[in-house]
Amino acid sequence: MKGAIIVGLSELSTLRIFEFETPMKEKLTALKVITGNRFDNQQHVLIESSRGHYAFGLYRNQGLYGSEKYKSLQEKFGKSVEPGKVYEVTIWDAVGWITLLTIEFKIEDHNKPIPGETVAKIKDTIGLYEQGKVHCSDCDRVIDRVDIAGRYFAGMFCAECWNGTAGQHKGKGGWREIEKNETYD
Ligand SMILES: [Zn+2]
Repeated sequence: MKGAIIVGLSELSTLRIFEFETPMKEKLTALKVITGNRFDNQQHVLIESSRGHYAFGLYRNQGLYGSEKYKSLQEKFGKSVEPGKVYEVTIWDAVGWITLLTIEFKIEDHNKPIPGETVAKIKDTIGLYEQGKVHCSDCDRVIDRVDIAGRYFAGMFCAECWNGTAGQHKGKGGWREIEKNETYD
């Protein structure tokens, strides 16, 4: 037996951040009791659009001051950023097979909803996916799903990033090389 909490796409603009934290954990715990299923992650929260469902995770940043993760947050959000005020949203297809979007945002008050521009990006990504398109997980370019050159875990890459003519592993064999050397242990 399975269960999920379904959040309407339009509710993303009004649900407050804290509602995704403790109350959501309590709901998920209740679902565990109802279904007898053993799970404890937020992938059992689904976003519902008019055409489908998407797995949704919202995580408060755990990066400690001075860590590599904190340094990357400072690059994005400024030197004085407080780690606990940065959240990450990930959207997967309904079965968690592919990552459609991972996006970080900063919020000053947990009593506020996800920022409008982040919700807009989520809606844009879901809209694209429903038209058969995705963002490359590296360069963010929009590509047709049929043009996905390769995958690494839940990431999907355009031909340039996959083959190393663009992206984070440019000139070093691209994500193709990374994937080749992955043992998936
Ligand atoms: Zn790319």
